[in-house]
Amino acid sequence: MRIVLLGPPGAGKGTQARRLADSTGMKHLSTGDILRAEVAAKSELGLLAKGFMDTGDLVPDSNIIAMIQQYIDDPAGVLLDGFPRTVVQAESLDNSLEEAGLPVDKVVHMSVDTDELVKRLSTRAICKNCQTPYNLESDPPAKAGVCDNCGGEVTVRDDDKPEAVLNRMKVYQELTAPVLDYYKSRGDVAEIIATGTPDSVFEKLSQAIGSGVASN
Ligand code: AMP
Repeated sequence: MRIVLLGPPGAGKGTQARRLADSTGMKHLSTGDILRAEVAAKSELGLLAKGFMDTGDLVPDSNIIAMIQQYIDDPAGVLLDGFPRTVVQAESLDNSLEEAGLPVDKVVHMSVDTDELVKRLSTRAICKNCQTPYNLESDPPAKAGVCDNCGGEVTVRDDDKPEAVLNRMKVYQELTAPVLDYYKSRGDVAEIIATGTPDSVFEKLSQAIGSGVASN
């Protein structure tokens, strides 16, 4: 099964995709997480991506499309988080899946109003090592700056700083919102309002995806 999670920065795609991957055994494919690992490793792709990421711009489609090819036909099923982010990426995904004889089974759009998104992003921190997300107000690590999960360093992402957040919202409207229309025109988008506790959002997501998939 291949599930696409769509939604603006701060909608909670990563948090929910992790939970869903844990409960279903599906592979969580986050292009943001992969890119941050490339940046940390100072690989050729990481060095190229860093400049785009720090300002909240998108890494070029060709780099992203090449990067994800190896993952999309994982037999465990794939939860796509942060991809596709442009219509070109969505078309490329369709072509690759068609070649592999695999469809996109479900597209879920997680919506949250803009004020809430900005608030969430301004209090968000992440483990540099395992990428576990935290909210410094409502869900901080037990020991400040230290990941509960792996002991790694918990920091604010450069692209969660105010200037980059504004640009990410703009980029989302201009380049990623059309991806929602692309999937809507095919009629298979489930809409959920992704506000409330992470548990309540997970409940809505599980229902949107259908029983059996998200059950533990
Ligand atoms: P995320 O963790 O999903 O918010 O992604 C962080 C940053 O990585 C984005 O602001 C982009 O710079 C880059 N990025 C992640 N996924 C993509 C993608 N599918 N296409 C282009 N850039 C991406």
